[in-house]
Amino acid sequence: MAEIRIEHLRKQFGSFVAVEDSSFIVHDGEFLALLGPSGCGKTTTLRMIAGLELPTSGKIYLDGEDVTFNRASARDIAFVFQLFALYPHMNVRKNIGFPLLSQGMSRAEIQARVEETARLLQIDHILNRSVSGLAGGDRQRVALGRAIVRRPKCFLMDEPLGTLDAEFREVMVHELRELHNRIHATTVYVTHDQHEAMAMADKIAVMNHGVIEQFGTPQEIYNKPATMYVADFIGSPPMNFMRFISGLQKGDRFISLDGVVVAVPEIHQDLTVGELALGVRPEHIRFSDASTLRGAVYGSEYLGTNQIVAIETRSGLIKARVPANRNFRIGETVGLEFNPANLALFDCRSGRAVA
Ligand code: ATP
Repeated sequence: MAEIRIEHLRKQFGSFVAVEDSSFIVHDGEFLALLGPSGCGKTTTLRMIAGLELPTSGKIYLDGEDVTFNRASARDIAFVFQLFALYPHMNVRKNIGFPLLSQGMSRAEIQARVEETARLLQIDHILNRSVSGLAGGDRQRVALGRAIVRRPKCFLMDEPLGTLDAEFREVMVHELRELHNRIHATTVYVTHDQHEAMAMADKIAVMNHGVIEQFGTPQEIYNKPATMYVADFIGSPPMNFMRFISGLQKGDRFISLDGVVVAVPEIHQDLTVGELALGVRPEHIRFSDASTLRGAVYGSEYLGTNQIVAIETRSGLIKARVPANRNFRIGETVGLEFNPANLALFDCRSGRAVA
């Protein structure tokens, strides 16, 4: 398989910059998700790697070889759009084997490859069935089989599950990850769905307006968001921001929020007075009568195993995920408690984490 490396990749359409100075490495066998909202440049990045779009500047390397100006067909990459696109008049065997026909392979070789692929996807028992009569899951597996039968160096997938309903999507997310665990094919997967990215990827690149805001493992992205944008995009409900005005010095470990001293992770830079935001994930808030940081319950949403409680504080509305076994009255006062290790601190001017 292959390593994909992009260096300072940039794409401009007229005066509009769709991708700005993007650099990353997808190591051999890794699964990278390009994650971000519609229009942030995910597809454009993928199309440049595939060779379907020429970069304005920057370089693309496949296994160390500069392929920036190579034609798409010379890159040995499989580009998967939607997993539903099958040839309806052919059976499963022919659908999977179709990409091999143009490669001048012998019939026996094609048959062996198709059968090996079908076994991998556990669809070897339906090889002679017509695809038109297949259920959704099997159709997806056949389409996946057609993509992997060529054994390309890497896979590029653009929202392949985009048209599926939520329940089926979840099943396919699981199957795609299982398949990846078996074949370890270097994969770049475009999605706007944080759950898909978190569940499948080894690494995630979070994109915003053509820029990669953070590149890291799902755990790094979730636990140590580099920017307020990433903290807000990942998690549901997303990270809470409690805004306050202050100056801070490198090495500080306490802030004053709403007149209450709160322990935070060590500040790693000096900050002149300006707006800061304390970031805390909903599941990291505890209610404690002893806490002097207080707020009033604004509403609650029962979720079965837990509940989301919205609290009006002097630093803004925040949401806490707490056990479901307690009822809250609207307007009730609660004390809030955090573990400093779970907190983030952002400079609202730059949007970047400062602790
Ligand atoms: P989506 O999920 O909606 O496709 P995306 O993150 O994949 O979003 P891109 O398709 O990469 O985003 O598009 C990034 C921006 O570049 C968009 O604003 C889009 O309108 C613009 N764009 C893409 N292709 C072209 C083109 N050929 N000409 C002009 N603008 C383009």
